[in-house]
Amino acid sequence: MPQSMHLSDANAAEIKAVSIGKTFGAFHALKDLTLDIGRGEFLTLLGPSGSGKTTFLMILAGFLAPTTGRLMMNGKDITDVPAEERSYGMVFQGYALFPHLTVEQNIAFPLKVRRRPSAEIKRRVGEMVERVGLSGHEKKLPSRLSGGQQQRVALARALAFEPSVLLLDEPFSALDKNLREMMQEEVRRLHQETGTTFVFVTHDQSEALALSSRVAIFNHGELLQIGRPQHVYERPASRFVAEFLGEINLLPLEDFSLNGDRAEGRFEQRTIVLTANGTAPKSGGVAAVRPEHMRISSRSGADGENSVACTIEAETYLGGSTKYHLRTNGGVGLAVSMPTVNAGNITSKDVWVSWPAEQGFLLPDGS
Ligand code: ADP
Ligand code: MG
Repeated sequence: MPQSMHLSDANAAEIKAVSIGKTFGAFHALKDLTLDIGRGEFLTLLGPSGSGKTTFLMILAGFLAPTTGRLMMNGKDITDVPAEERSYGMVFQGYALFPHLTVEQNIAFPLKVRRRPSAEIKRRVGEMVERVGLSGHEKKLPSRLSGGQQQRVALARALAFEPSVLLLDEPFSALDKNLREMMQEEVRRLHQETGTTFVFVTHDQSEALALSSRVAIFNHGELLQIGRPQHVYERPASRFVAEFLGEINLLPLEDFSLNGDRAEGRFEQRTIVLTANGTAPKSGGVAAVRPEHMRISSRSGADGENSVACTIEAETYLGGSTKYHLRTNGGVGLAVSMPTVNAGNITSKDVWVSWPAEQGFLLPDGS
């Protein structure tokens, strides 16, 4: 294994949250949360506003005590260990830089607090300035930096003392799209270079999918699903997760039956074959398919494919992709997206929408 890739792997922490609950008065902000964070992992907490992401991060940091449950780090119970002893790095949206300190003084601050020798501080600050691309800006005050540069200083300051865990709470939500993407790249690179355990909070699904080794999806204080980005996107366990991670087509099925990891049902007089996770929904089932997994053609699909007859109602040009809005003969709305380079092949409004059986999956029809 290349040693330079993970400089402080040995330093990275493994965390286990066991049945964590948090109430504010009668309100349950977190409900029985159990979750493992691997050593050196990039875990993203994803969920709508108010789902408990910040509350959980504050509990990890030690700024909030859980009402119930325990928190373990590297096998030790740290539930009652105060924040300053946990000593995690932190980058928060509103966690401002010290306005009266220069870039290098800001980055040096956590090292000074820890009484590191001045030669080490100097070397470490120099390394961090370079690592986040701020060479030449060392003597500037934060007010003379752009938003993106300020967040780079915040990242450098949080990583300067080589924390075993870095907590990031929606650090880029105030930045515009291009800058946000640049900062995402930066964070990904810093994670690879340092090997530190990163716990990142966002409500932006594409940011979560792009950055993380695993994504944990929260709603109403509950952990709904955790898994690799591709897994949660392509095999969501519930309609909430499926819809929160991106647009999805839902086709209600009649008479569905289950055979191991395959399900079969009828939609508008045609048999639809899908993957299933082995458990049958209690009431009805729906076939769920992402818009980019469907294709439009003038004929029904080949063997092993599902097809439904549709009419194109509208199309939206999105640059690299084009999105088609369609309606089945029975009146169900569908969306299909395809690379714009292929969109010119569609000449008629009456078409077939097809997809391979393994690209559709069975979800319960309730919410
Ligand atoms: P998120 O970060 O996912 O947007 P939070 O963890 O900040 O959500 O909040 C989860 C819920 O807990 C929200 O409904 C919020 O209003 C509530 N909450 C958070 N902190 C407090 C507090 N100190 N007192 C009362 N309610 C709180
Ligand atoms: Mg929050």
